[in-house]
Amino acid sequence: MALREIRLMGDDILTKPCKEVTKMTIRNRILINDMLDTMYEAQGVGLAAPQVGILKRIVVIDVGDGPVVMVNPEILESSGEQTGNEGCLSLPGKAGTVTRPMYVKVKAFDQNMNPVILEGEDLLARAMCHEIDHLEGHMYVELAEGPLFDAENEEEE
Ligand SMILES: [Zn+2]
Repeated sequence: MALREIRLMGDDILTKPCKEVTKMTIRNRILINDMLDTMYEAQGVGLAAPQVGILKRIVVIDVGDGPVVMVNPEILESSGEQTGNEGCLSLPGKAGTVTRPMYVKVKAFDQNMNPVILEGEDLLARAMCHEIDHLEGHMYVELAEGPLFDAENEEEE
């Protein structure tokens, strides 16, 4: 188990677009395992590679149903709307109100570079959108309605 340092808002790396992953190398496998360890240790529900300082299009999520790994994810479809509180491991202790789709369909590759189609609803849809935004250098604070507030039991991504 190896933990990586979570970069915090204000770090330039969180504003940069990430590069496509072309091959599942040992280095990328180690990164994915470290991202999962780091997310679980921080009790987050999602983590994107730039949050550990790596500009690659890799995301890990676990909303309580087991780990989901998405490499080069792309949203194919979205529908509905949900407005709720959202937090981020790169901005600990804070949360904001963000409107996201209720449902998303995502095309990605899994940790073996097999193509997969993933569907997410509710919190999973929110986490998918939040993490994919990180890959473009965006954070939820850009979408938050009204001021951020102190998080109590919000889930952080
Ligand atoms: Zn985040």
